[in-house]
Order: sequence, then structure tokens, then C-alpha cells
Amino acid sequence: MHFETRCVQVGVDKDSAYLSATTPIYPTSTFRWDDLQTNRGYDYTRSGNPTRRALEENLASLEGGLDARATSTGMSAITTVMYLLNPGDHVIAGHDIYGGTYRLFHDVFAHWGIRFSFVPMGDAENVRRALTPATKAVWIETPSNPLLNVVDIAAVVEVAHSAGAITIADNTFLSPYLQRPFEFGVDLVIHSTTKYLNGHSDVVGGCVVTRHREHADRVAWIVNALGLGCSPFDAWLVLRGVKTLGPRMEAHQKNAMALARVLVEHPRVERVYFPGLPSHPQHELAKRQQKGFGAMLSFDVKGTRADAERVMYGVKLFQLAESLGGVESLVAYPETMSHATMSVEARRAAGISERTIRISAGIEHPDDLVADLKQALDT
Ligand SMILES: *Cc1c(COP(=O)(O)O)cnc(C)c1O
Repeated sequence: MHFETRCVQVGVDKDSAYLSATTPIYPTSTFRWDDLQTNRGYDYTRSGNPTRRALEENLASLEGGLDARATSTGMSAITTVMYLLNPGDHVIAGHDIYGGTYRLFHDVFAHWGIRFSFVPMGDAENVRRALTPATKAVWIETPSNPLLNVVDIAAVVEVAHSAGAITIADNTFLSPYLQRPFEFGVDLVIHSTTKYLNGHSDVVGGCVVTRHREHADRVAWIVNALGLGCSPFDAWLVLRGVKTLGPRMEAHQKNAMALARVLVEHPRVERVYFPGLPSHPQHELAKRQQKGFGAMLSFDVKGTRADAERVMYGVKLFQLAESLGGVESLVAYPETMSHATMSVEARRAAGISERTIRISAGIEHPDDLVADLKQALDT
């Protein structure tokens, strides 16, 4: 089946009683046993629930994996995979990964004895140089936030595997419609389903997708043991969102491209960060590795912080808000929002200035978005 067909069809058929066309929500904590030996496949919702299972089967299929587990948030998906490791293990991650992931690694798991190296992953050689005999995992996030640096997944996987380390990819920014890390040899994929997979800014959720039996079994065990699974209601919302993933991603990326084209030409804009522009340093890699350029872009306004503020307050259709991947367009200010917990020095070292604005392009009509951004820049 093609991708769009799998979005709509896989896993959803969970109503053997009435054959409803959509998946029912099973809001129950427990399930009755027929006798002391037999139940119908579910006994307690922390361990498993038919609505959650529908979503898991769907997501596993979209990434091309063996199995998936749906969790309460993206952070709980990341927590789950970190429990595959042991104290003393070493992990290599990009220096520009999602701020919440950095916090979880640096301020939580480091205290439990896991060691981390954060390296510029644009060059796979930096990963090789950071390897130690204790390296057990390499964390890949591409494209990065907010400057859209692209990591060569196959190259990093080769370095990691040569050292016997597993690779985990956070595929939130592109969704499996535009990038499937398993095709490049990655071992586990995680998502914040809060973003494109749900796509409607009305739920937080996550998932871990596995491709090896041993990881699938262990991840299922951890999600149950730690109690990280998502609620049946949230699973149902994400499952509903996923059905339109393909058409939404097409609309999102068309809008992002239209906005990027306006921004590169605009005299008040100094620099645009978008892998879809031929001027992006990894444009060719993005073309090779991704099935599209996605819908996240950032830009530096010329002048001062006040000039950037004027643009963010001047737009009328873009909501000033964190997060991404919803149908509505957003502008965000990394300086005081997503990257506020980094030190100023760390932000500047990462290339984020106080004139950097991030856009999550929604699915409104491109002409309206372009006109709105233009008037905010022109004012
Ligand atoms: C939002 C996000 C997360 C965290 O997900 P939550 O659902 O907010 O817990 C992780 N990684 C990336 C790339 C994200 O954008």
C-alpha cells in the first residue's frame, strides 16, 4: 500500500462488535477475563488498550518499522529509549538538538550515570572523534531547530555501527511522509506526535518506533513498567490527525517554500535558513535524504532586536507561539521562547541571534501568508 493509504487504513479496524468505520475510543482502565486463563488480548490500559494499539500499528507502518509504542508526550518517548541504556554508557548527540531533549540528557540522565557528548553533527567525523569504548548510542535529529542544519543520517549511522552503538532518530520535524530514517539504517525512531503527526495543535503525545524484535519487546516492557503510555482519548486524536498527514504535509511545504522565496528577496531580511533554498549549505543532502524540504524555516531580520519584534508583532495571521506542525501558522522567537534556557553565549555559538525568527508554516492559502509577512516586514 502507498503511504497515504496506510495513513488512512492501517490499524484502525478495532470494532469487531459493530464494524464502525473509525476506531472506537475504549475509555476503560481494565478488561474482563472470560475465565481464569483467558482474556481478549487486553487486561489493563497501562499495559495495552485497543485505541492506543490502533495508533501504534498505524505509526509502525508509516515509518516502515516492526512495532511502535505510543506515549504521553515526545519527552516520554525519549525517556523510554534512554532506559535501553545503563549507567556508565556514553551517548553522542548533536549540539543543536531540541532544548527539552538537551535538558533531559544533561539535567536528568547525566545524574543517573549516563555520559553525553554534544557535537556539531553536520560532519560525521565529529561523531567518530567523540566515540569512546563506552559509546552505546548516537542521537540524530535532522533538520535541527531553529536553524535547519541537516545531518547526513547514513554517514552517522555508519560511524555509530562501526563502533557497535545503536542510532536513534528524532523524526519530529519532517514526519515519516518526508523522511524515513530506517531507510538509512537507523535502529529506533521517536516522534513528538504533538507536531505534524497529530497536526492540529490539540494534543501532546509521542511514540517510539522499533525495527528489531529485541528493541520492540524491551520498549513495550519499559512503557508499561514506567507507565508512559498515552491515554485512549489522546491516541484517538492523533490517529484522526494522521489520516490527513500526506495532504497536510504537501500544503505545509508549499507554504514554507512560498514564504522562503519572499524572505530571500526582501531587503529587510539578512539571512534565511531553509533546506529548500539552493543557497542552504546542505541543500543537496536534504534533496537526497528527504522527500521534501518540510515546513519549518527561520530568518534573521536586518537591524536590531526591535526590528525583529516589529515583524513578530506586525503579522496578523501568524500566531506568536511555541510548538510547530499544526495547521495554523506560527512565529516563534528562539531568544525568549524555545531556546531561552540556553545561555546567551551558547545561543550565539549555535548561530541564534536576537534577530532570529522561526516560522512554522501552516496550511492556510499561501497568498494570504505571503501578503501578511510582507506587510509586517515593510512596515
Ligand atoms: C516538541 C519536540 C519534542 C518534545 O515533544 P513533546 O511532545 O513536547 O514532549 C522533541 N523533539 C522535537 C524535535 C520536538 O520538536
